Amino acid sequence: MDKKAVQLCPVQRYLEQLHSELAGMTGGEVASYIPELTRADPAWLGIAMVTVDGHVYQAGDSRQTFTIQSISKAITYGLALEDRGIDAVLAKVGVEPSGEAFNSISLEPDTGRPLNPMINAGAIATTGLIEPAPDSTPMTRIMETFARYTGRPLDVEERVYRSESDTGHRNRAIAHLLYGHGILDRPPEEIVDLYFRQCSILVTARDLAVMGACLANNGVNPITGVVALQSRYVEKVLSVMSTCGMYDYSGGWVFHVGMPAKSGVGGGIMAVLPGQFGLGVFSPPLDEKGNSVRGLEVCKRLSRDFGLHLFHVARSTSASVIRQTYDCAQCTSRRRRSAAELVLLAAQGGRIRVYELQGELLFGSAESVALEMLSGLSDYDYLVVDMKRVVATDNASNLVFAELGRRLAAEGKQLFFGDTRQLYRFRKELQKEQEGRQHPFGWLHFEDTDHAVEWCEDQLIAAAQTAAGVDRSLTDLKDQYLCSGMTPEELDALHAGGSERRFAAGTLIFRAGELAESLYFILSGEVEVWIDSGSGHHMRVTTLGPGMVFGEVALLNQNRRTANVSAATDAVCLEIRFDALQDALRTRMLVNMASYFARKIDQDTRLIQRLG
Ligand code: GLN
Repeated sequence: MDKKAVQLCPVQRYLEQLHSELAGMTGGEVASYIPELTRADPAWLGIAMVTVDGHVYQAGDSRQTFTIQSISKAITYGLALEDRGIDAVLAKVGVEPSGEAFNSISLEPDTGRPLNPMINAGAIATTGLIEPAPDSTPMTRIMETFARYTGRPLDVEERVYRSESDTGHRNRAIAHLLYGHGILDRPPEEIVDLYFRQCSILVTARDLAVMGACLANNGVNPITGVVALQSRYVEKVLSVMSTCGMYDYSGGWVFHVGMPAKSGVGGGIMAVLPGQFGLGVFSPPLDEKGNSVRGLEVCKRLSRDFGLHLFHVARSTSASVIRQTYDCAQCTSRRRRSAAELVLLAAQGGRIRVYELQGELLFGSAESVALEMLSGLSDYDYLVVDMKRVVATDNASNLVFAELGRRLAAEGKQLFFGDTRQLYRFRKELQKEQEGRQHPFGWLHFEDTDHAVEWCEDQLIAAAQTAAGVDRSLTDLKDQYLCSGMTPEELDALHAGGSERRFAAGTLIFRAGELAESLYFILSGEVEVWIDSGSGHHMRVTTLGPGMVFGEVALLNQNRRTANVSAATDAVCLEIRFDALQDALRTRMLVNMASYFARKIDQDTRLIQRLG
C-alpha cells in the first residue's frame, strides 16, 4: 500500500483528529484487581482501523502493547466452534446475554451451563473445549490461532499472567463449579491456567484492528490472506459479540454504536463492521462496567460521524444491477451476417433478449432482476444474461437464479449466462442444478455472452431458412459483396484464377503478423477471426460463413495480417492471390470495400450512440 496515499487519506486525517480531541478526556480508573494492570499509563490512547482491502490507518499509541484480556474470549470461541462444531459447543455454553458483570457466576440452574461465552464462566468453559493436537498443546493451538488473526507471532506477558494466577480465586472457583457440573471434563486447575495465559497475550490496537478486519472479511486476514476462522463460524462469533461482547453494557452498545465488539480490562476494544473494517482502540482507564472510557467514545463518535451502525442500510438493492437490456433486433452478435440474415434478425431479433448485469447480486437485487425477466416472458424465446460486470453473487442470489432457470426451462425458454468465469460459487451452484437434467446445452455452456447470442441468432436464422428451403453453401461468387457489379465473364475469370482450399475444423488458416498475399471467399463452412487479447486469451473478433470473404483488407495495403483466422467447422474457400488479380477486378473490389466500410461506420456510430 502507498504510504503517502494513506497519510493523505481523509480517514487517516479523521482518526488523527479524533485522537487529539480525545487525548485530554479524563474519567475512569485503570483496572487494579489484577495488580500488574495498575502499571498501565492512563494517558495511552491508540486507535487503528484496518479495512477488508487491508488498508491500515492508525493514530496515537496504536503500537503500544497491552494484555488482550477478555477480547481473547471471542477468538477462542471461534476456535472451539471449529474444533467441536456448533451443537457440541452449544451443549456446554449458551448464547443468551446475562446482563451481568463479566465475572458473575451466571450458570443455568440445573445444567450449570454458562449463559454465554463472553462472560468469564462461559469463556473458561470455551477454553476447556480446545482440543490438544497430536503434536501440540491447547495453548500452542491458541497462540497459533491468534497469530493467524494478527499476522504476527505473539507473546504472553508473564508478569500479568502470574499476577492474575496469584489472585484469580473467583475464576478458580468458577472453574471448579463448571467441573462439578460436568461442563469441564479436564482438571479445572489446568483449564483456568490456560484461560489466564490466553488473557495475558500481548497485542496492540493495530493488532486488534487486524483481528477485527479478519472477522469483517469473512474470516480471511486481509493483509496476509490467511484464513483466521472458517467463514461459516464468523457470523456466530459476531453474534455473541453483538449481544454479549460489552458485558452489561451490551444493549446500550448496540443501541449507540451498532457494531459487534469485544472489550477487555486491559483497556482494549475490538469492533467489527462486517464487510468493511475492523477497529482497534486502546486506552486503559475503565468505567464501572469494565469498558475503556475513551475507547467507547472513539467508537461512538466514529459510528455517529459516518453513520456506521450495523442496522443502517445504505445500499439500495433494487434494479440498479441491470446495466442495460436490449434485443437482437437492436444489436446483433459480432458474427458477420449476410444482408439477408440481417434483414431477418431485424425482424425477429426481438425473440432474443440480453440483460447486462453489474455490481453485486444479493438477495434483494437478484429478486428484482428475476421478477423483471419473468414479467416480459411472452416477448422472447431466448434469454442471455451477461455477467461480465458482476463482481459477486451471494448464496441467496445463486439460489434465486437457479430457481429462475428452472422456471424459464418449464416455460420452454432457452437461458444462458455468459462471462461467469469470475463467479466461482455461482457457477458451482448452477452446475449442481443442471446435473442429470436433459439439456442440449447447459445454462453455462457458452464462455461469453457474444457466443451465446450468436448461437441464438443461428437458431432463428436456421429455422427461417429451413422454412424457406435455403441451401447454406454458397459457391457462386456473384453473391459476394466484393464482387458486386462484376460481369459474368469477370466472375468466371476470377474463379478460374483462384484455387480451392479445404480446411478441417480447427486448422489455423493464417496467423496475425504473417505477410498477406491473398484473400479467401468462403464457399462452405465457417471460419473464426480471433486475436490473442494478452496472456494467451483467445478473443473472438467475428465468425464468417458462406458468401463471405476474409483477408481482403490487405488488398488496401498489402501488409501483414492483423488477426488470426481458423476454420470453425470444416470449410471450403476459394483463395485468390493478390498478384494474380487483374487491375479492373482489383479496382472493382476496392470500390465495393469502400462502400462496405462507409455503411459499417454508419452502423458503428449508431451502436456507440446506443451505448452512450
Ligand atoms: N482475565 C480477566 C478476568 O478473567 C479478563 C476479564 C476482562 O477482560 N473482562 O478477570
